[in-house]
Amino acid sequence: MDLEKENLKLVLKKNNVGRLNFKLKNIEIGKDFLMIAGPCSVDDEESLVKTALAVKIAGANMLRGGAYKPRTSPYAFQGLGLRGLQYLKTASEESGLPVVTEIVDIRDVDLIAQYADVFQVGSRNMHNYAMLKELGKVKIPVLLKRGMQSTILEWMNSAEYILKEGNPNVILCERGVRTVETYTRNVLDVTAIAALKKITHLPIIADPSHATGRRELIEPMSLSAIMAGADGLIIEASINPDRTLCDSNQTISTDSYKNIAQKVQRLREFIENL
Ligand code: PEP
Ligand code: MN
Repeated sequence: MDLEKENLKLVLKKNNVGRLNFKLKNIEIGKDFLMIAGPCSVDDEESLVKTALAVKIAGANMLRGGAYKPRTSPYAFQGLGLRGLQYLKTASEESGLPVVTEIVDIRDVDLIAQYADVFQVGSRNMHNYAMLKELGKVKIPVLLKRGMQSTILEWMNSAEYILKEGNPNVILCERGVRTVETYTRNVLDVTAIAALKKITHLPIIADPSHATGRRELIEPMSLSAIMAGADGLIIEASINPDRTLCDSNQTISTDSYKNIAQKVQRLREFIENL
């Protein structure tokens, strides 16, 4: 498959000068390595604020947390909604970290825009073209996750939808794809990370949490993603990893996060000197 021959006008590197670069609060996207951490879902205000402060000290530069959760089962916790957004705002103010949070319903664009620094489009909504078009009209950056069964071309087309409407600030996130494997939740496609660095000017980060579904694999997959060229990591971490309402099995403690963040830093320095 030759992406150069596809009808992609905006996401391909050849059509742009240099890598995407923009300022997001204290972060310079395109230059700074993104260290996004926080719980899967916003569960309560106290644990969110404590987690935000702990990951900040550990080296994170952005807070994650879902107020709206796209769950496989309709009976599973669906997120705190508006209350979750309010807690995210408090945690952001207390820690100084900007916030990325998922949008699952096109009707929530204006509401979430009041609370989020970055919109997250999850794996299940990568093909929600109506929502992508709406997010193309806002001024807020978008973290676009790869659909769990999507090809690189399909993913690039989804990014193209956002760019085409006028929002250039898209960050891509490889979060693992479905394969025959069941031991891990998904398989982190490190090849896609390396390929996207060549294909597009957009930054590409990795999500080792949803890629593996297993705490003990977060560190090796984080380091592998960096070796492949990732521009950042989004990791599920909490001060109470065993008591989170969502994705507990893959949520690491803030202490483990600190440990990983130190290794990330050392590996990045090593790579710079290669
Ligand atoms: C998430 O990051 O909370 C999430 C639901 O991830 P994904 O869309 O990759 O499954
Ligand atoms: Mn999760």
